[in-house]
Amino acid sequence: LSRAAVPRLRLAPDTEPGTLPPDGHPLARALDQLIARREFDVHFQPIVDSAQVRVLGFEALVRPPSTSPLASPPVLFQVAAELGRLVELERHVVRRIIRKFVDLQLPGRVFINVSADTLISTRHRHPLSLPELARCGLPADDIVVELTETRAVLDEEALATVVASLRASGLSFALDDLGQGFASLKRWLDLRPDFVKIDRHFVDGVARDPLRRQFVRSILEMAHSSGAAVIAEGLEQADDWRVLRDLGTSLFQGYLFARPSPSPRTDLLLDALARLSRSE
Ligand code: C2E
Ligand code: MG
Ligand code: MG
Repeated sequence: LSRAAVPRLRLAPDTEPGTLPPDGHPLARALDQLIARREFDVHFQPIVDSAQVRVLGFEALVRPPSTSPLASPPVLFQVAAELGRLVELERHVVRRIIRKFVDLQLPGRVFINVSADTLISTRHRHPLSLPELARCGLPADDIVVELTETRAVLDEEALATVVASLRASGLSFALDDLGQGFASLKRWLDLRPDFVKIDRHFVDGVARDPLRRQFVRSILEMAHSSGAAVIAEGLEQADDWRVLRDLGTSLFQGYLFARPSPSPRTDLLLDALARLSRSE
């Protein structure tokens, strides 16, 4: 299900999150059950450094049951936001991600998608606070928070404050889906992320499209000036990889290297990466 299909699921137009009557609606019931029984899994997709043939880390991606009407992650988070349950859901998801990442003993860092709403919420103990992380045995500098969003942030100042304080405690930040929706240049300027992730739309087909190449060149230049590392997302084609590499990108995530998996095999991944580099 594409991101573009998500708005059609809005339960009611022009409604603020949390103001809908949650009772009885089938999606509300499905969400209730998913949260109450923690009925979701987490998969991990590697982010590789193809120049150095190493794994930078893994992005954690939630996987609801395939039979649920909320099986698509974007739909799940959109519906949770509509029903005012996004922060609650994300707290459970973040906890599960951290526990599973520690259990799997994966190398590198874990990239965790978190909405601005959850970051600025003071309703509960913060799932990324140092005591919470210490309890799970994960050092703060193993974590990269990917700022993802389902709606415009209302309080930009609060967001900048929280980002600064989490960063002071050792976490890194990534601006997700650069070039899409809310991942704006203003956000980049205000938050000075450690990583920017170029949205798949700009990556896919870059080998055949001079304008895409020019966009990527400009992003790399801005990233260089601001001290951010660039990750190209959604890489599927080897010819796109070659073009991006020649432009100066070395961090990649996409099906070309590996799909998200419940228990990734780093050894196989590194073999594939070495073969690709040698094939040049
Ligand atoms: P995202 O954070 O941009 O995640 C990348 C999405 O691209 C994932 O979809 C991933 O499976 C997919 N992808 C990776 N490589 C390729 C590729 O080569 N080709 C194609 N076509 N797709 C690729 P997924 O898992 O369906 O997640 C979609 C979105 O849902 C995520 O976009 C993120 O915004 C949200 N999401 C997923 N898990 C979480 C989570 O735990 N918390 C939050 N807040 N949002 C999440
Ligand atoms: Mg992401
Ligand atoms: Mg993304």
